[in-house]
Amino acid sequence: MDAEALKRASAAKGFMPISEGLALYEAASGAPDGGPFLEIGGYCGRSALFLGQAAAERGVLLFSVDHHRGSEENQPGWQWHDSALIDVRTGILDTLPHFRLNVFEAGLEGSVVAVVGDSARIGAVWRTPLALLFIDGGHSVAAAHADYENWVPHVVNDGLLVIHDVFPDPADGGRPPYEIYCRALASGVFVEVGEIGSLRVLRRGACS
Ligand code: SAH
Ligand code: MG
Repeated sequence: MDAEALKRASAAKGFMPISEGLALYEAASGAPDGGPFLEIGGYCGRSALFLGQAAAERGVLLFSVDHHRGSEENQPGWQWHDSALIDVRTGILDTLPHFRLNVFEAGLEGSVVAVVGDSARIGAVWRTPLALLFIDGGHSVAAAHADYENWVPHVVNDGLLVIHDVFPDPADGGRPPYEIYCRALASGVFVEVGEIGSLRVLRRGACS
């Protein structure tokens, strides 16, 4: 990945370790043709800058779905709260301005499209096939399984399904991302093609 792009992606606030971000960039660079990329869980744009850089180089769009109000664990009093992300006018979390600034400064406004809203509601009406789907949104049982059910059917044959925060050992983190990873493998439709940290890269087989 281009050094300047890597510097900007690494500087964006976020929860993705740089090694995993680079794996995301590599995966996206090798995604098939046949549709845009889409991520669920944009936050302040770190993963979007890794994926967006690959999208720009490939000449495709990255849609980044997020209501930008934060997950449960980002709210005041929770472990992953950052008070700098509170909008002083409303008193609630708003990561959209941070996301937008990071995308602008990375020169990726032509390739990264923010889709602001609840992923289940957007997924319910989405129709465009996806060459790559990255799931890194809400980690509750309901949110993770809804993302799986609403979005995974849109992945094209040979397309990539990438899931973050997959922890086989419950001591390392919450279960729902691991559960949907198991669901994808158990479906017989996806095979695992990459693993780094808590990131899993699956490819859709052509036989489904
Ligand atoms: N990929 C990011 C981190 C995402 S954190 C990075 O690289 O840093 C998870 C994000 O999912 C939060 O920004 C939260 O607002 C979003 N989210 C949680 N539940 C959601 C839902 N139901 N719809 C849309 N976004 C959701
Ligand atoms: Mg994550």
